[in-house]
Amino acid sequence: MSVDTYLKQKNTAGYARVAADDDVLLLLAPTLVQWAGGVRLDVTSFLGIRRFTVTLEHRHTEACAH
Ligand SMILES: [Zn+2]
Repeated sequence: MSVDTYLKQKNTAGYARVAADDDVLLLLAPTLVQWAGGVRLDVTSFLGIRRFTVTLEHRHTEACAH
């Protein structure tokens, strides 16, 4: 997945918001939310540098072939 941290002049009205940390907000594109059953954001900190790991869970639909 692509991560874009530049949000100026960008319409994020339809985006799903996932609060991750006190000062971090994760925005998910509507098309991404459609097929995602769940989102998990893990925050780890090492030597003062925070690292974010986003995990998307697959949601089964009738279009699934498995
Ligand atoms: Zn499936």
